[in-house]
Amino acid sequence: MSKLEKIREAESRLLLQTYDRNPILFERGEGVHLIDEQGARYLDLLGGIGVNALGYAHPDVVETIARQCKDLIHISNLYYHHWQAELAEKLTTRTGMERVFFSNSGTEAWEGALKLARAHAGLLRGEGREIGTKFLALEHSFHGRTFGSVSTTWKAKYREPFAPGLPGVEFVRFDDVADLRAKFSNEVCAILIEAIQGEGGVRPVSREFFAVARELASSTGALLIADEIQAGMGRTGKWCAYQHYGIQPDVTTLAKQLAGGVPLGAILCTEEAARAIHAGMHGTTFGGGPLACAVACTVIDVIERDGLMENASAVGGYFIAQLDWLAKKHAAIVDVRGKGLMLAAELDSAELAKKVVAEMLKRRILINCTSETVLRMLPPYILKKQHVDEAIRALDEILTEEEAAPAAAGANKGEARG
Ligand SMILES: *Cc1c(COP(=O)(O)O)cnc(C)c1O
Repeated sequence: MSKLEKIREAESRLLLQTYDRNPILFERGEGVHLIDEQGARYLDLLGGIGVNALGYAHPDVVETIARQCKDLIHISNLYYHHWQAELAEKLTTRTGMERVFFSNSGTEAWEGALKLARAHAGLLRGEGREIGTKFLALEHSFHGRTFGSVSTTWKAKYREPFAPGLPGVEFVRFDDVADLRAKFSNEVCAILIEAIQGEGGVRPVSREFFAVARELASSTGALLIADEIQAGMGRTGKWCAYQHYGIQPDVTTLAKQLAGGVPLGAILCTEEAARAIHAGMHGTTFGGGPLACAVACTVIDVIERDGLMENASAVGGYFIAQLDWLAKKHAAIVDVRGKGLMLAAELDSAELAKKVVAEMLKRRILINCTSETVLRMLPPYILKKQHVDEAIRALDEILTEEEAAPAAAGANKGEARG
């Protein structure tokens, strides 16, 4: 049995069967490449689902981890260490926020943001304002897998096996301003938005929808909460995707790219929202530890020192242009979307999308498929044009081959869409 076969056999006996893994055993990474146990190199356009902003084995990240783990890995939140305040300073000044709470993951940050909204509404009620406890979330949203997060996540497959979820969550049709206005009332304590939906298929909300959400929330004291766990930290060419809209939410959440692969999440909020939280109301054992916070400081410094947001915009713009060219050539590509290095090409069938991901893997290029028909790319910010060319060439080849097999392609259509 090969090393991979042994591991697969053991995992199939030992692990909860939550993942349908690709049969590759990765051992290390360098820059934008992953290397498997046989030494084969893969171009990684998925970056550990957006996490590896600086790619693999970035020297500054390696150096910070080595230094910090000799000094201090963990002390709990009962004492001070060097890095929380420094990181909070960096984050607040770049996002227009005022206060921060650090967690370990995206879903924990989101849970905390939901708790903050409930507590804030309670504070306002205490001050004589009329405001309820409901959340308005968006169709096609994704906010994580813990109870509050999954309750505010659209996909029934993620929610329903665990019902009943958090009470008081209502979904608004994506980008439907009339539906948002109809469902908003002073029963609502927060409107929940991803400026660019990630798992939902790399869909940006319209300026109008975002602006109306801001206006409605402000009219009652409800919080506008922007989930930037996927789109944030410079991926779209700004620190937060909401900055492209010129709209400031009351609360935002970060995680994926925040600490270059070390688990870390953050809730950022205004002074007004933060009034609701007092000592002992919320907390975490691991969150905001010295190791993760030190690495996050390095990630931010490197992004700025090396102009990586500018690179994300430039290479991302080139990627979109190349995908647009491909869409003109191949009718199977029905839409191309994205901002910076958060990119998608939507295909006309789920079956084809699955096939393209598998064919790309055979050519040693990693992408994934989200929302059934959407090919998604979340590459490291150090990506270069030559890597884009490599991916576009492979996609062109695969789609050309698919078109040359008309019987199979015809059979794919229609059934997979609905
Ligand atoms: C990934 C993601 C989450 C959940 O983060 P985890 O670290 O997996 O818990 C929440 N919201 C968005 C937008 C995400 O992309």
